[in-house]
Amino acid sequence: MELIQFDTPVEKLYSVGQTVAKRLKNLGLKHAKDILYHFPSRYEDFSNITTIDKLTSGIRVTIKGKIDAIQNRRSFRRRLYITEAIVSDQTGSVKIIWFNQPYLAKTFVPGDKIVVSGKLEMDKYGLHFTSPSYEKLSGPQIHTGRLVPVYPTTSRLTQRQLRFLTQLSKPLARRTVDYLPYQLKKEVDLLELPLALQEIHFPRNEAWLKKAVERLKFDELFPIQIYTLQNRRLLEHTPAPAIPFNQEKTKRFVEALPYKLTNAQRRSAWEILKDMEQRRPMNRLLEGDVGSGKTVVVSLAILNAADRGWQSVMLAPTEILAQQHFETFTKLFQKQKITVCLLTRTQKWISRPKKAVSKTTLNHKIANGNAQLVIGTQAILQEHVVFKNLGLAIVDEQHRFGVDQRKQLTNKSRAHSELSPHFLSLTATPIPRTLALGFYGDLDISIIDELPKGRQKIATKIVLPHERKATYDFISEEIQSGRQVFVICPLIDPSDKLGVKSVREEYERLSTKIFPEFKIGLLHGRLRPESREKVMREFLANHIQLLVSTSVVEVGIDIPNATVMLIEAAERFGLAQLHQFRGRVGRGLYQSYCFLLTETESEAGRNRLQAVLTSQNGFELAEKDLEMRGPGELYGLKQSGFPEFRIAKLTDFPIIKKAQTLAKNILEQDFELSKYPHIRQKMKEFKDSIHWE
Ligand code: ADP
Ligand code: MG
Repeated sequence: MELIQFDTPVEKLYSVGQTVAKRLKNLGLKHAKDILYHFPSRYEDFSNITTIDKLTSGIRVTIKGKIDAIQNRRSFRRRLYITEAIVSDQTGSVKIIWFNQPYLAKTFVPGDKIVVSGKLEMDKYGLHFTSPSYEKLSGPQIHTGRLVPVYPTTSRLTQRQLRFLTQLSKPLARRTVDYLPYQLKKEVDLLELPLALQEIHFPRNEAWLKKAVERLKFDELFPIQIYTLQNRRLLEHTPAPAIPFNQEKTKRFVEALPYKLTNAQRRSAWEILKDMEQRRPMNRLLEGDVGSGKTVVVSLAILNAADRGWQSVMLAPTEILAQQHFETFTKLFQKQKITVCLLTRTQKWISRPKKAVSKTTLNHKIANGNAQLVIGTQAILQEHVVFKNLGLAIVDEQHRFGVDQRKQLTNKSRAHSELSPHFLSLTATPIPRTLALGFYGDLDISIIDELPKGRQKIATKIVLPHERKATYDFISEEIQSGRQVFVICPLIDPSDKLGVKSVREEYERLSTKIFPEFKIGLLHGRLRPESREKVMREFLANHIQLLVSTSVVEVGIDIPNATVMLIEAAERFGLAQLHQFRGRVGRGLYQSYCFLLTETESEAGRNRLQAVLTSQNGFELAEKDLEMRGPGELYGLKQSGFPEFRIAKLTDFPIIKKAQTLAKNILEQDFELSKYPHIRQKMKEFKDSIHWE
């Protein structure tokens, strides 16, 4: 047999046939290495080893003994195979019963030495083990007599198979190179990686398990810390245009607005404008609930850039959003005579005078500096666009912007290609401070934590199954009086990442059974971007009255005519995410409603939803999500652009702290990591795994 390698395909592994290989692949396990990194979700504690005379009903134990007898029979009532065995040691004997595993009577013959782990029961059969875990005493013990790993799996791949395979991949654990030098590990008291990889699967005891878990969590958190620290330092040494704050002009602009800025808006604007005065690039995240007024804050930054002859660019995640921003800024900057442009794959517009233009005309205006603000999609990065002098880059609803994208933009600035533009990222996702410190260490953060006065409250209600019909009646009335409705469906199954099936079913049901008289649309992440745009456009134009969607609808689109947000299986979403869905309605003049449908029997699940009723504050809800470590936390990480964790949690603060400390120490003495080739390699892999959208 060949030596197992990290990249050995699973189908080449000993005992793995085509069927098992396929099932492994369904779990995302393609190579031997993937099996090594498929960590247990929990453990059965079978470490209590005892003798047969000590057995009593209800305890969970392990015994070692000899098989005296073993045989199959059929239960006549239920068509079950029952395998019965008698096992004895020096102190006595005990009965074992297995259901529907008739092959066991062939696997074992009387005289075989066996280890049995499980729970004891007392009933009409007497005292016995029921379907315990078992294995021959001669081999390594992986199913019994220890902390036994239980893996995340699909129904058709058994724990025994998975344990067997992890046992098989154990040599890989031993051969894994630890990227952390011994001395550094000692400093922060971390277990060695090869050991951690063995102990995570087959821990000696709880204490070893804890150390293994800590080490493997550390490995996911550490690269983030190195990354953000390096990024921050690099930016500190990157030149940027210093854009002085024109107080007079800004004041006049603000005074002409039809409303007064909130204190939070003032503070955030001040922080941004102060940053832009520096000779190094701003790298700031502006967080604010839906409707908190981020746009006008951004406009102050653009105004000041334009004042000094610097162009601004604003990237939006979708064409429709770009278009909405274009309309908003065109109005906002009418008096200032700032020329706004729209550039997407399908649309090219300028604001003064407002008209559609050719690609050539638009590119020309961007190149000669006449276009002072260019709003668009990623098309701006792709197409042949060159700025005269780009001073400010804004990204809407995308939390991170890669160094590469930044470079791409910088290179687009003809006159000042050595200067990096200031960078501002906007988000309505409330990221709690605690989280931000660990995961956005390279970004400064401004928070608009206050809504403008006089906002209408969105009436929010938990809807139980028996109230569904009444809710549909209500929706029907709303649509008849001209309004529009969102219906959000969650993932049906965590492994079905996009949940397409569930929204499709709901779409079918609503359009054929519940609301056949209305025009209903369907939106989900597996649609191509063009089709998604098309659906949103039809909804915006009120050609679709009810839109069934997955959570892709989150991103800040403005549909003032939509008044009802109905969320199916609301308990499956994070509280902050529910709050974001709710923010999709109530953007016009009409009273709006949010219905949280839930069929959960769990009291705790329903109580959790109550928080969305009592709080209208996204940050509060995000903190609650974090406390409860619910599904919200996955959501938060996804937004950061970093790869999802296998084992670490966003709330692993002590380990995050450890990772931060070590990263700082290392970078202080060796910023380039030239003395640490293995850490460098690790960082390279990490950077490749970051996704920026
Ligand atoms: P978001 O933060 O979600 O992007 P917007 O910038 O789109 O929010 O602002 C939402 C609405 O609130 C806009 O119509 C805007 O004109 C208005 N607005 C912004 N700031 C204020 C304020 N201080 N007082 C009243 N209305 C405001
Ligand atoms: Mg917005």
